[in-house]
Amino acid sequence: MTRVLGSIALMKRRSLLLGLPALAVPAWAQPAARSVLPRIAAVPGGVGRVDLGPADVAPQVTVDGRRVLVLRDGAGWVALVGIGLEAKPGTTLPVQVTDASGSRMAAVRVQPKQYATQQLTVAPKHVQLSPEDLARHEREREHLREVLQHWSAAPPPTLRLRTPTAGRRSSSFGLRRVFNGEARNPHSGMDIAAPTGTPIAAAAAGEVIDTGEYFFNGNTVIVDHGQGFLTLYCHLDEIGVAAGARLAAGGELGRAGATGRVTGPHLHFGVYLNAAAVDPALFLPAVKAG
Ligand SMILES: [Zn+2]
Repeated sequence: MTRVLGSIALMKRRSLLLGLPALAVPAWAQPAARSVLPRIAAVPGGVGRVDLGPADVAPQVTVDGRRVLVLRDGAGWVALVGIGLEAKPGTTLPVQVTDASGSRMAAVRVQPKQYATQQLTVAPKHVQLSPEDLARHEREREHLREVLQHWSAAPPPTLRLRTPTAGRRSSSFGLRRVFNGEARNPHSGMDIAAPTGTPIAAAAAGEVIDTGEYFFNGNTVIVDHGQGFLTLYCHLDEIGVAAGARLAAGGELGRAGATGRVTGPHLHFGVYLNAAAVDPALFLPAVKAG
C-alpha cells in the first residue's frame, strides 16, 4: 500500500513538473483515514484492532478498566488496543464496548511472538540497588504508572510517528534481560543512537504531561498525543520543555544524553497505548534492515 501511494505521489509530482493536470486517483487508492493507523500486530507489545462498525458517536472502549483509543476509519469506528509485553499468546484480552445501544464484549486474541533473551552475569553490586535507591525507584515507578494512565479526550491527529532523532535504531524492544539468573522487565522501548547534545524532536504533536529526573530513565519527557497515545523520551542531557507545553510534530523537547542508568548516550524512545508499552517500530516509517 505504501508503495502504491508512493508511486501515486510520484506521478502527481511528475504531472506538476510537466505542467499537466494530476492523474485522477481512484477512490481505493486515496489516502484514507487508514493511512494514519499503525501497523497492526496483535502480539505481546503490539496493537490489536477491534472494528466497531458505524455509529454517530464514537463508542467507549476499555480493556482491564483502561480507556482505549477509538478512531474513525472509513465509515466505521475502530479501537486500537495496546497489548502489554506480559500478555500470554493464545489468551484473549476482554474488551468492553459501550455505545448508545448498551455494553457488549469483544476480544483481542494474542498471537505468539518470540522476543530474544539475553543472559548476563555481572558483579552483584551492579544490579543490587541500595535501600535508598530502591525506595526512590519504587516511588518513581508508581509515579510513572500513574502518568502512563493519563487520558485526554481529543483523538490523536495520526498514529504515524516521525523519528525523534535520526540515529541508528536498535531492534531490542521486548528483549528479555536476565541478570545473574534473575529476569528483569523486558525492554519497553527502542534505543536510538544519539551523541550527547543531539536535538530530540516530538514524534507527533501533543502536550507535555510529565518531565523529571528519574533513577533508571534519567531526564525524561512524556508527551500525550490524545486518548492514551503517549510517547516517552529518556536519558536526556537536557530537558527543553515544561509540563503543560504544547509541541508541534518535530518540535524540540530536549537534547540527547546519558542520564540515568545507561552505559552511553542514546535516546530511549517509548510508545504507549492504554498504558501498555508497544513497539515503537509499528508507528515509525519502516527502515531497511541492516
Ligand atoms: Zn532503552
